[in-house]
Amino acid sequence: MSKPRICIIGTGLIGGSLALALKQANYCAEIIGAGRTEATLKKAVELGVIDRYHVTMEKAVAEADIVVVAVPLGSMHAVFRDIVAGLKDSAIVTDAGSAKQSVIMDAAKSLAGHFEQFVPGHPIAGTERSGVSAAFKELYQKRRVILTPTEKTSPQAVEQITAMWQAAGAEVECMSAEHHDLVLAGTSHLPHLLAFGLVDCLNNLEDVGEVFRFAAGGFRDFTRIASSDPVMWRDICLSNKEAVMAMMRRYRDEMDSMYHSLEAGDGEALKEIFERAKKVRDDFCG
Ligand code: NAD
Repeated sequence: MSKPRICIIGTGLIGGSLALALKQANYCAEIIGAGRTEATLKKAVELGVIDRYHVTMEKAVAEADIVVVAVPLGSMHAVFRDIVAGLKDSAIVTDAGSAKQSVIMDAAKSLAGHFEQFVPGHPIAGTERSGVSAAFKELYQKRRVILTPTEKTSPQAVEQITAMWQAAGAEVECMSAEHHDLVLAGTSHLPHLLAFGLVDCLNNLEDVGEVFRFAAGGFRDFTRIASSDPVMWRDICLSNKEAVMAMMRRYRDEMDSMYHSLEAGDGEALKEIFERAKKVRDDFCG
């Protein structure tokens, strides 16, 4: 097959890094960008992230073999609606959204006859930074990308999107969207809520100046992800609401249990939890 022409909608951290990685791998014929603001697209051309752009979505996708939608979850539905009339019959559409069941519902509604050519995806890679200037070509090296095809998704389309992510340096795995959303609620969405929540909680203390003056490495490590984009994380929490709430309930139970152990002065119970958690984290970090 000849090199595909790729259209990336949303040339921020995720879309821009994919574009840079695919260019580095000499994987595609051309990368066309599309997005909300022309200034961002101009900057993406200047930085060598995309080759050219269209401000009209329908025109941007018209020549594309693969369309990658890398916009915040709250905008997925509008983007699918705006591109559908411009897609070639053979074009494959994929996304990079951090929750999958909501995107599949949006695509089913808006991509209509093109839904079989839609491959839902999520790169498990990122940083707390956003925008095209945060993009870098190594972001996906040896990182996982999860694809969550539905029973209607074309296996050939899944193969092509797998090949695209592999060219960007990633390892690809498939799973159900439901399973993805539950797992990511625990490992990504809940930690972000905890980081935002802790910083907000401390900020609401009366002598907040003193608190942050004495905050050190542990605080910085734990709260790094509270510097992430608020709009993106609002959209992720709302899009994966049920699974995130289920994880919050589990965490609240854990906190209650530690609270009661502390109240009772039960150091042994606390130590057991800390030892268990330390072993799991040490094993995870290798
Ligand atoms: P970003 O803010 O860096 O980039 C988003 C881009 O989308 C920007 O260029 C913005 O101008 C554009 N955009 C926003 N609304 C739009 C609209 N309505 N139409 C067209 N373009 C629009 O964000 P990002 O970190 O690249 O995240 C993009 C997607 O990737 C999100 O769905 C997010 O859930 C997912 N994701 C993010 C991370 C991460 O760690 N940042 C990791 C994996 C997946």
